[in-house]
Amino acid sequence: MELKNRHALVTGASSGIGAATVLALHEAGAVVAAGARRTDRLGGDLNLTLDVTDESSIRAAVAAAVAEFGRLDLLVNAAGIMPLGPVLGADVTTWRQCLDTNLLGMMLVTHAALPHLVEAGAADIVTVSSIGGRETYPGAAAYHASKFGLYGFSESLRKELTGDGVRVSVVEPGYTETELFGSIGDAGLQAGIEGVLAGQRNLDPADVAAAVLHIVSRPPHVVVNNLQIRPSVQA
Ligand code: NDP
Repeated sequence: MELKNRHALVTGASSGIGAATVLALHEAGAVVAAGARRTDRLGGDLNLTLDVTDESSIRAAVAAAVAEFGRLDLLVNAAGIMPLGPVLGADVTTWRQCLDTNLLGMMLVTHAALPHLVEAGAADIVTVSSIGGRETYPGAAAYHASKFGLYGFSESLRKELTGDGVRVSVVEPGYTETELFGSIGDAGLQAGIEGVLAGQRNLDPADVAAAVLHIVSRPPHVVVNNLQIRPSVQA
């Protein structure tokens, strides 16, 4: 029970990587608050309605977790969407949704949780970014902007908090079998990605959750600030 006495909040907990992380943290002994909009799909010790594009929803979820647990020392930011399509002629409302969810959502959840994480004395913030936070593919400009942004925000925050007991980490997965690809929007790009996924052994959400577990179970003098994990067949 490596994570006994840890109290966690996981966003994007209703499916995929977030849901697997809730399970992994729980199995390792942590008490876990799970947040998402589809609360019927949550499997945490505490299940919370959470829309990361809505500041009042974020504040209410963090307050509810702290009220229930008395403390918060682990935040996993896993909420995300992946609308894709060319910049030329793009419906820019999809850009706003992408940035609001993937980047600003993570920043606002982190902002709301941070006083409690600092107060805990020793805590972790783990954000699920993507290999697409370091490398780019055509047709994914807004998604890459959101994921590159996560890295900049997280690394600056890590340096800001160095010595304060709050470790800041970014996990960058490659192709993982989840529902994410249902949010692509562009039929051609969706078919292309689904073709790639169908032709190879991808990561399971549990593989990424195991990486999160590895990060948060390091001894206090170690921070894994960045961890890339990809299918062994993905270049
Ligand atoms: P899923 O679609 O399976 O899960 C996405 C999660 O995000 C759901 O729980 C969903 O919950 C939540 N979410 C979406 N919008 C909001 C919102 N506005 N407020 C709160 N929660 C929201 O996809 P993944 O598990 O794959 O995605 C998790 C993260 O992993 C994402 O950030 C994604 O970019 C990243 N990632 C995924 C990869 C992959 O290949 N699958 C590769 C690299 C990174 P609900 O709809 O119930 O609110």
